[in-house]
Amino acid sequence: MSKVLYEQDVNTEVLKDKRIAIVGYGSQGHAHALNLRESGFDVVVGLRPGKSQVKAEEDGFTVLSVAEAVKQAEVVMILLPDELQTAVYKESIEPNLQAGNALAFAHGFNIHFSQIVPPSNVDVFLVAPKGPGHLVRRTYEEGAGVPALYGIYQDVSGKAKEIALAYAQGIGAARAGVLETSFQEETETDLFGEQAVLCGGVTSLIKAGFETLTEAGYQPEVAYFECLHEMKLIVDLLYEGGLENMRYSISDTAQWGDFVSGPRVVNEETKARMKEILHDVQTGAFAKGWILENQANRPQFNAINAKENQHPIEQVGKELRALMPFVSEPLQAKQNKQKD
Ligand code: NDP
Ligand code: MG
Ligand code: MG
Repeated sequence: MSKVLYEQDVNTEVLKDKRIAIVGYGSQGHAHALNLRESGFDVVVGLRPGKSQVKAEEDGFTVLSVAEAVKQAEVVMILLPDELQTAVYKESIEPNLQAGNALAFAHGFNIHFSQIVPPSNVDVFLVAPKGPGHLVRRTYEEGAGVPALYGIYQDVSGKAKEIALAYAQGIGAARAGVLETSFQEETETDLFGEQAVLCGGVTSLIKAGFETLTEAGYQPEVAYFECLHEMKLIVDLLYEGGLENMRYSISDTAQWGDFVSGPRVVNEETKARMKEILHDVQTGAFAKGWILENQANRPQFNAINAKENQHPIEQVGKELRALMPFVSEPLQAKQNKQKD
């Protein structure tokens, strides 16, 4: 098994005398900036004027233009949406990087697919939390953390690994475990995971189950509870203790159904499709499509998104969740916070 590193394996001194610029203050940005500051590091935030800028200032940060933040810092963490990074990098980051600085990412996409080509005189590393930014923040506040991957693309100072690990410690990830990877592995597994399993796989599975039941004449409300609402309860059990723990909690009837019917839904043919998806990720075909889609102002993305939001499961879900206010509490809290 690969070696997982924890707090006792990390020396944070190497980062203590450096200023860190966090570029972007969204899901990941706010979590990294707040956690690093509370861990005793010197943080400035780089942003354009707007919602995030107001929020970062309210949180007590010095907010500078991206160009100025990069000029003032030795470590620059880019936490902009992946599809906007290249433009901001060319315009405001690259011209202000100094030899010996470190350039950091939370996802390897733009480096791995050559959208950003860093100068040869800076360190380039990756610290990728394996969880959404709001969890990176919440678990840190609770004294825990979200595990992270780290990887080194360029080591000019000879200290890139030490700096990356100190950074991972600063955001709380070393409390949960930090595992070494490469930009290639992080990028390809992240894209595959979200497409085939976590996001694409799960939403397609839920919709297919819901459609099968409603097309057979069952009530949409019942189908919603069965195929979407209950998913969380099952996922929590998986998260806490793996497949065995989940199967321990469900009835033996459910477990028998799991054994005999699961492999009829996700079978060799499904796995062959997964291999095609992985192939498209590895060859850059997926990346190329997504980059071009953005250059064309997302015609397909927007069309599919509008259609997906009209799916009957979304209609019935809205009505049912309104009757279960406790279910949407975290969402309400988040939306109120965003409005502030
Ligand atoms: P978000 O969309 O949540 O936040 C983006 C931030 O960038 C916002 O603060 C936004 O500010 C700012 N921004 C956008 N355009 C500009 C610009 N032109 N100049 C300056 N600031 C700008 O991004 P995420 O946190 O989701 O993603 C950041 C990185 O983290 C990505 O590389 C992603 O792959 C990675 N990642 C994300 C995870 C997640 O949980 N979301 C998980 C692991 C990695 P404004 O309010 O002005 O728009
Ligand atoms: Mg991702
Ligand atoms: Mg049941």
